[in-house]
Amino acid sequence: MQRAVPQEFDRVLSSMCTDPHPAAREAAVRFLATNPGDPATYQSISELEAEVVAALGELAGLPDARGYVASGGTEANIQAVRAARNRARDEWVTAPETPNVVAPESVHFSFQKAADVLGVELRTVPVDGDYRADLSAVRASVDSETVLVVGVAGTTEYGRVDPIPELAAVAHDAGGDRPFLHVDAAWGGFALPFTDHRWSFAHADVDTMTVDPHKMGQAVVPAGGFLARDSATLDALAVDTPYLESTSQATLTGTRSGAGVAGAAAALDSLWPDGYREQFEESMADAEWLADALADRGFTVVDPELPLLACEIPDSLFEALRDAGWRISRTAAGELRVVCMPHVTREMLRRFVDDVDSLSK
Ligand SMILES: *Cc1c(COP(=O)(O)O)cnc(C)c1O
Repeated sequence: MQRAVPQEFDRVLSSMCTDPHPAAREAAVRFLATNPGDPATYQSISELEAEVVAALGELAGLPDARGYVASGGTEANIQAVRAARNRARDEWVTAPETPNVVAPESVHFSFQKAADVLGVELRTVPVDGDYRADLSAVRASVDSETVLVVGVAGTTEYGRVDPIPELAAVAHDAGGDRPFLHVDAAWGGFALPFTDHRWSFAHADVDTMTVDPHKMGQAVVPAGGFLARDSATLDALAVDTPYLESTSQATLTGTRSGAGVAGAAAALDSLWPDGYREQFEESMADAEWLADALADRGFTVVDPELPLLACEIPDSLFEALRDAGWRISRTAAGELRVVCMPHVTREMLRRFVDDVDSLSK
């Protein structure tokens, strides 16, 4: 077998993952051979997992959060849909026949997987002129079979934050058997605490949230976060586990990576909150710098609200930049998309802009 080497990060501009914090790397290696899915056997990693959930709860405005470290945002989003479906089935006066989930069209594609696996209907509704959930469209789509309304806090393509308190009001106005509210902060969760956005459990009656340590949290992959306000949510996900000492399991996967959990614990321990704040401020300044540099060159830029920007550039230039080794990607509309993750430095962006100049000629 060929000796493969991982890519360097020095030209990676469109990934939502990053070089992990050194403490996270070290902790992940130490806990490689542990399985938090079997907490009665692997007790120390289970204790670390409880610490991670508490820290994520603090970050997301929910001091006594329930939840666990998932394999990623996809699993956490699937679990949010599953919990809402199961709770509606078991708790509502009238159980829905064909449960549906209402989400803005900016929602991550993991919700399509959730809908497919769980047999629920995904209703995506238009966004407004600034790529945020359109409240009247959401309101018009919610009906008596809607089990979940989804808001995104930091969209994958444009880094936009949906109006979470207003979405909560839409869910609650439905009255009686009302939909649950899920916030997908998989990417944005580690930046939003340092902004004025109203996105968290503290700002609105949010039921569940996705917030991933393995993205801006600088943890090691795989480390996603699933958080819930009520224990009833975890109960709705739990199944009996006959051959384990622990009696039930709420996760979707069985055996899980202790490396992911330990990496998340170490990253949070090292960086929350000051390290994350400093990183956010630096990354945000970098995103604004790049937005200005591209706008100065006559390109149309979608302003960064979080450290993520999109920009219309010609196809030929996009291809030339890829050929020059830049790991860049496009939005569905075809714009160049740059995510200023912690490994993205001003120096890297200067080299990128130099290449934009030389390859535009
Ligand atoms: C990345 C992302 C996801 C999916 O997370 P994975 O860890 O890749 O499974 C879900 N939602 C949003 C908003 C994301 O940015």
